[in-house]
Amino acid sequence: MSNYEQRTALVAGAGGFIGGHLAAELIRRGYSWVRCVDVKGFDDWYQQHDSCQNMVLDLRDKDACLAACQGVTDVFNLAADMGGIGFIENHKAECMISVLINTHLLMAARDQGTKRFFYSSSACVYNATKQVEANVTALVEEDAYPAMPEDGYGWEKLFSERMCRHFQEDYGLEVRVARFHNVYGPFGTFDGGREKAPAAISRKVIEAKTSGNHSIGVWGDGEQTRSFMYIDDCVEGILRLFESEHSEPINLGSSELVTINQLIDITESIAGIQVEREYDLSKPKGVRGRNSDNTQIQAALGWQPGISLEIGMQKTFDWIFDQMTSGETATAFEREKAQSAA
Ligand code: NAD
Repeated sequence: MSNYEQRTALVAGAGGFIGGHLAAELIRRGYSWVRCVDVKGFDDWYQQHDSCQNMVLDLRDKDACLAACQGVTDVFNLAADMGGIGFIENHKAECMISVLINTHLLMAARDQGTKRFFYSSSACVYNATKQVEANVTALVEEDAYPAMPEDGYGWEKLFSERMCRHFQEDYGLEVRVARFHNVYGPFGTFDGGREKAPAAISRKVIEAKTSGNHSIGVWGDGEQTRSFMYIDDCVEGILRLFESEHSEPINLGSSELVTINQLIDITESIAGIQVEREYDLSKPKGVRGRNSDNTQIQAALGWQPGISLEIGMQKTFDWIFDQMTSGETATAFEREKAQSAA
């Protein structure tokens, strides 16, 4: 692989967070052309790449998938109707309808002669009984079975993983499947109900800083644990996996485990303020603890995500601050960056 100039790509869900970053990197690596597709109106895409073929299509529809895959050697499916825990716990049917996107994309890729297909799965496929302690043992790939994934969203992901496997076995379409663990970074959702913890906490701390009201709401008791992967590691991992010969689903996540309270500590120190935490136990909390065991990815790719939460949160916070304050410079880090660029 990696003769990029002879390859063509479809990024499904390119108007979203991860798809937007991935499309930028595919262009940078020299793909012959990149087609970006999303159901959202073009003005609502987080990133718009003028050098791509940009199309607004509903990929739940099979004919739309056939059009999207025409002439494409490499399909990257990042399209799904999803959000943070507040969204997926309250929109289970909507999450499961995303099964149409991956199913029709697989069929279209097969029929249009696509060579390789990437599917974005999730740590939400893992058996819930393995995630009941905050001090959790990191999840290995085998922990997806026996199946008891996150209701709705997780079942759709697990089913679609299996569909990918059988398209490889039965039709020879080469598939690559990554199970993402909480991805965060600039050019993503930070309000409106679909945002995830790093963006939501950044937004709340920024509101506290700019309003002077230093009290913020926290979902749960703050002692739930997670790992968070910065977007640059996510894109690098997708492309390393895509180029590899590893076709089984694999963890793509950071193994730096933190409590939500520790995530708030980091955000406070970036913002330079202390907040008062109002814990709300009635809000959706998800599993008690979740971490990524990276033994397999290290063995398969000789690499694993390595960007620290401090560094990633600094960049994320700065971008959200910018969005919320129409370009005012957020922190010392951002000011230094602007000065060195000048
Ligand atoms: P996102 O919501 O920012 O992007 C998804 C994009 O898919 C959106 O722009 C949306 O408009 C588009 N989409 C939805 N329905 C569509 C349709 N019918 N046709 C065409 N486009 C459609 O989400 P993201 O964070 O970029 O996630 C990308 C993928 O990674 C998803 O499959 C998601 O389930 C998976 N994932 C993400 C995370 C994370 O932490 N961000 C974690 C695990 C898995």
